[in-house]
Amino acid sequence: MSNLDLRPAPGVCGGTGRTGPVRDVQPGKQVPLGESTVVRRLLPNLGRRMVGAWCFVDHYGPDDIVAEPGMQVPPHPHMGLQTVTWLHQGEVLHRDSLGSLQTVRPRELGLMTSGRAIAHSEESPHGHGPFLHGAQLWVALPDAHRDAAPAFAHHTDLPVIEGGGGLSATVLLGELAGATSPGATYSPLVGADLTLAAGTDTRLPVDPDFEYAALTISGESEVDGVRLGPGALLYLGCGRGELPLRADCDSSLLLLGGEPFEERIVMWWNFVGRSQADIEEARSAWTSGSRFGTVQGYDGDRLAAPALPPGALKPRGRER
Ligand code: MN
Repeated sequence: MSNLDLRPAPGVCGGTGRTGPVRDVQPGKQVPLGESTVVRRLLPNLGRRMVGAWCFVDHYGPDDIVAEPGMQVPPHPHMGLQTVTWLHQGEVLHRDSLGSLQTVRPRELGLMTSGRAIAHSEESPHGHGPFLHGAQLWVALPDAHRDAAPAFAHHTDLPVIEGGGGLSATVLLGELAGATSPGATYSPLVGADLTLAAGTDTRLPVDPDFEYAALTISGESEVDGVRLGPGALLYLGCGRGELPLRADCDSSLLLLGGEPFEERIVMWWNFVGRSQADIEEARSAWTSGSRFGTVQGYDGDRLAAPALPPGALKPRGRER
């Protein structure tokens, strides 16, 4: 997915310092994406730019797309990050400049590692299902790996933890409670999809060295005593060995976590860099048609890069 904001705000995140356990509810923002879709942007938000290496979280749907084209995100570039496609309903057809052509379905991981340069498109395929519901997440690559070879991987066999007490957890990326996703990672982190049956009342073992945040995908649950419905991000801080989870109705959550990302990064449009020069070079390369390659087969024009903001990028902490 692409950040379609015509005037995306630049920002530098990273830095030191970690909190103990907190319960900080941070409202998401409704952001139009293309002509017919509105997403809930939960990260970055007004209070926070990153959770571990997770630097971008959009939750969309469930949207009735029976009479709609659904997702139609034209070819666009990425640098310095991984993209995670995660669905509960519908399907997304991914094409990229490596020649990948892959339909991603619910509970399958679509994981694209941009390295220094990749381009891709995402669309609801012809004959798509009636509903589209999912999340698009980005993971910042640490400096040592941000020039990694670009790659796309599709993982259909992800580990599932039966937590007892009505909880099951699919580990889509990283590690949780001894279960590890086959998806490639470049910093210690986790992304997990938690299913809570009505009546769940349990504790999930988590890593005290990770910071965590949770967002509700469907239903409503209680995370460490905080009621959480769709549309907000609950930041949980670090220092927990277990996370209390309750639900009165069938619910699902995404749990995102990782070691606090200490590097300062510059994130603008679809790029993660370390300096304004990195961003300017990437934008120029996309505009001139170099570096990022070509996406074959998408029916439409590629996205144009928005204008850079005037002036220098202002450093900001990862907590804003
Ligand atoms: Mn994208």
